[in-house]
Amino acid sequence: MMPIKVRKALENKKYAIVGNHSAVQICRWTKSSLNGKGGCWKEKFYGIESHRCCQFSPAVIWCENRCLHCWRPIEMNLGAEIGKIEEPKEIIEGIIKARKKLLSGFGGNKKTEKRKLKEAQNPSLFTLSLSGEPTLYPKLAEMIKEIRKRGAISFLVTNGQNPEALKALEKNKALPTQLTLSLNAPNKTLFHVWHNSLRKDAWNRFNKTLKILKNLKGKTRRVIRLTLVKEGSEKGKFKELSNMKPEHVKEYANLILFAEPDFIHVKGFKSLGNSRERLGYDKQPFHEEVREFAKKLQKELAKNKYKVLAEEEKSCVVLLGKDKKMMKIQKNKI
Ligand code: SF4
Repeated sequence: MMPIKVRKALENKKYAIVGNHSAVQICRWTKSSLNGKGGCWKEKFYGIESHRCCQFSPAVIWCENRCLHCWRPIEMNLGAEIGKIEEPKEIIEGIIKARKKLLSGFGGNKKTEKRKLKEAQNPSLFTLSLSGEPTLYPKLAEMIKEIRKRGAISFLVTNGQNPEALKALEKNKALPTQLTLSLNAPNKTLFHVWHNSLRKDAWNRFNKTLKILKNLKGKTRRVIRLTLVKEGSEKGKFKELSNMKPEHVKEYANLILFAEPDFIHVKGFKSLGNSRERLGYDKQPFHEEVREFAKKLQKELAKNKYKVLAEEEKSCVVLLGKDKKMMKIQKNKI
């Protein structure tokens, strides 16, 4: 059960809480698209519709990790046990209803494109990436099927701590359209410092998930996402700490080559939300630094035909992959 104090704190951040453990929030890029200022880099790369994107979580404040770069309020984390859970259909219906309420405020804004606002009422994409670890929700397979039944794309982002949950998705024929594994530390020592996990065997669990990602080739779109944090210039507890040192390139490459994902997101850290208390603006790499790191990584991956497929400076992200033709999500493959 979510304590009132936590619920209040999340509502202050414009989360709409649905039931005991789920929440939805309007992404800044959904707002930007509704106001005719363009969608997110995933719209550019994969052809999704940012104005029809529903960013939510069935485990909004439950996660076994407390990652240094996380912009969510990890200091309020309630651990890895959600407790009493709600049914997937009930949650999805509640999420869509709560999102409509959050969108209602846009109607009065002159800048809002009316056609897009109308379309936005009916999500074409559900991203299980808002906050917390979605694989902690035990009925995730049914939830993804519920999303698919609505003809919508599903994006699942995981920290890799629940390999069994991913196996269950495969077994139940409920793999998401796109499965993203967050890789933020390329060796065991940095992994434990970076993720501060409740799981003593966190590194082993992560490596089991890499193996599962490898074996899901051709069954879902598989992504590995790096969020790069540079050494700082300002005073701070984590000034020297970085996950983008030159010696890390080969270590990342070895893990990536083991899983051989379809895409790699090399993204620069943004000091946003609660992460600002841990890592300041001086820890944010410039796009140029992210591009340099991505190029070095690509060189290590070139033998497996990975190349730079696209980049988006305003979001400080570079996309590596093998096949440009695979980028756009096909309607018949959701
Ligand atoms: S895909 Fe992600 S960044 Fe893009 S609109 Fe949805 S939540 Fe926002």
